[in-house]
Amino acid sequence: MDRRLGITATVPTEVVLAAGRVPVDLNNALIRGPDPGRAVREAELAGFPRNSCAWIKGIYSTVSRLGIGRVIGVSRGDCSNTEALLEVLADDGIGTVPFAYPENRRPEELRRVLVGFASDLGTSLNEAERLRERLAPIREDLCRLDELVVAGKRRDAAYFELALSASDWGGDLEGYASRLEEELKHGEEPPPAMVRLAYLGVPPVFTDFLDKTAEFGAAVVYAEIPRQFTMPYLSAGLVEQYLAYTYPYGMVFRLGDIVGEVERREVDGVIHYVQSFCFRHIEDILLRRRLTGVPILTLEGDRPGPLSARDLLRLESFIETLILQKSGGGF
Ligand code: SF4
Repeated sequence: MDRRLGITATVPTEVVLAAGRVPVDLNNALIRGPDPGRAVREAELAGFPRNSCAWIKGIYSTVSRLGIGRVIGVSRGDCSNTEALLEVLADDGIGTVPFAYPENRRPEELRRVLVGFASDLGTSLNEAERLRERLAPIREDLCRLDELVVAGKRRDAAYFELALSASDWGGDLEGYASRLEEELKHGEEPPPAMVRLAYLGVPPVFTDFLDKTAEFGAAVVYAEIPRQFTMPYLSAGLVEQYLAYTYPYGMVFRLGDIVGEVERREVDGVIHYVQSFCFRHIEDILLRRRLTGVPILTLEGDRPGPLSARDLLRLESFIETLILQKSGGGF
């Protein structure tokens, strides 16, 4: 039996693991797989509109590339495009399991959703709680790595990679824990950065974003959504853990985390990444209204690949301006 379950976004991984299944984050599989740009084009050939999100198209192709037979789709709390994606996948003969984070964030409602999700996968919430306890030391180690990045002792790229993989543990929990331990003990210390950035938004479709920010003299000391994937609040139960997870609950709720962390981490500038054709682009309005006192650069990405010449120039100019400001220079 194929134990793999594709996931379109972060779902309670404790439930998936308790059911003896292997989660496969289709976003990570897409962007780390061979020729992600071609995967997007393949979905367009299958009929997906050019003016739709590249992640959705890439996920669609990744399911067939990997031969995944069953997919869990986050139908509330991620993206309404996922609903249509699940319908198309079901029509292709792929098994689909919708998972909906409750809009009202009521604990009793989330408990009901978790119990139903566990039952759909053939396990129970109690079993999943045991997995939460097993994962707790790994999540604590991820918090330690995050703090080392904040202190300039570890590379932001190493944290990004491990944090993004916390959605499915790279398909190998033991291997993941060893890689994390190795990074904590022997990871590379980066050269001192001249400015400290926050990265807000969904993971970038750009393949060279962190290389370029480092080249321009900046470090990302706050990776908002990747950090959310690590469930950094170390909650006492799954209901509390997935209530504290900000990503499914809109920008106003996310700002509660963002505003405090931007200050605590002494961030000099914010990159807000938005995906072309994504409704989250509209949330940039709220971000700019509520996060004042720190410069914000909004970067939009469409297809997987390196930053365009125009975006490289905007990024470099933004970082240069921050460096000038920090050194007390004028413009
Ligand atoms: S980037 Fe936006 S549109 Fe694309 S899958 Fe994510 S939430 Fe949906």
